[in-house]
Amino acid sequence: SSWWGGVQMGPPDPILGVSEAFKKDSNPKKMNLGVGAYRDDQGKPFVLSCVRKAEAIISAKQLDKEYLGIGGLAEFTKCCAQLALGNDNEVLKSGRSITVQTISGTGSLRIGGNFLSRFHAGPRDVYLPKPSWGNHTPIFRDAGMQLKAYRYYDPSTCGFDFKGALDDISKIPEQSVIMLHACAHNPTGVDPRPEQWKEISDLVKKRNLLVFFDMAYQGFASGDIDRDAWAVRYFIEQGHNILLSQSFAKNMGLYGERVGGFTVVCGDVDEAKRVESQLKILIRPIYSNPPMNGARIASTILSTPDLRSLWLEEVHGMANRIIKMREQLVAGLQKEGSTHNWQHVIDQIGMFCFTGLKPDQVERLTKEFSVYMTKDGRISMAGVTSGNVGYLAHGIHAVTK
Ligand code: PLP
Repeated sequence: SSWWGGVQMGPPDPILGVSEAFKKDSNPKKMNLGVGAYRDDQGKPFVLSCVRKAEAIISAKQLDKEYLGIGGLAEFTKCCAQLALGNDNEVLKSGRSITVQTISGTGSLRIGGNFLSRFHAGPRDVYLPKPSWGNHTPIFRDAGMQLKAYRYYDPSTCGFDFKGALDDISKIPEQSVIMLHACAHNPTGVDPRPEQWKEISDLVKKRNLLVFFDMAYQGFASGDIDRDAWAVRYFIEQGHNILLSQSFAKNMGLYGERVGGFTVVCGDVDEAKRVESQLKILIRPIYSNPPMNGARIASTILSTPDLRSLWLEEVHGMANRIIKMREQLVAGLQKEGSTHNWQHVIDQIGMFCFTGLKPDQVERLTKEFSVYMTKDGRISMAGVTSGNVGYLAHGIHAVTK
């Protein structure tokens, strides 16, 4: 008998499965609103010009391809932490944090999960917002942590369930880990407002919880990198020694380059040094050291003033295009004669919109209109263009009349 005869067929990935079905559809009007990758207004993948320019600079330098250190490219980790925390952050000035380069956001979360699993003295429970990014659960589970949840999204308003979140967080056992999406919450597009973040911070401190921020969309939410990092910086100011995951997939369009960072804010420099040594011990037997190309691109952009300002313009451009599509989608629905309140489509933030469509409506939209999306009613706004937004509005109206 074969070695693997007992291996059972696993279910397909829910998001990649949507893309598979999309590929097979021959309707010329078909739309793929499943996957969270930015598209330009022609529906094409978008490579930022700051990235092309950085690549030209790097290529001209004829650099070698020796291994990076276990923690990655030093120029990159420095810029990466500064981007999140702000150049003048006391934590960076005092050196009481450590940032390692990771395999994009997913790799960062996983290194974080492994670090927690090995060293966190509190309960092994990670509390995720309900719902959260689908990959959070297996990432932390495979790292040996247990998953719990706190209320986050209110289907009746398609908005933030602030009261439910506070209620649930107030009951989380002390020293547990709480996962917070720094901005542009995936999948709901619903973020707390600054006053709400402040209350969450107070409560989290009272419960003595360890905060893990996932920041996969800095700049992508509002178009402003500082504004999108507000919650992260506020929590640090309030004395939370956070864990932080960063990804450059979306905000620099470096998806396949796999560029990210994992930061641990520590009590003092000595603690940071000890944590760094253990992160290296963790990383070494997994992938030894991270890839260099994307980190070179990102650090070149962040540290070259001209490229950095071009990048800021381009992030702003991507965020704005998405905001415009939200407005046009709602205008289109009104033009179709929809009497529902679609304000949440405009109010939600970032790449995704949680439309509120029910599973049977999603199914009809796919079957009758070739509009592909996840069953939870989430659409990637990045796949909507001025050319197809009218068609989408028409389809959504038809299935929600
Ligand atoms: N975290 C969230 C909330 C995300 O939405 C994503 C990507 O969709 C990631 C992390 C990580 O993505 P990547 O590994 O491509 O950086």
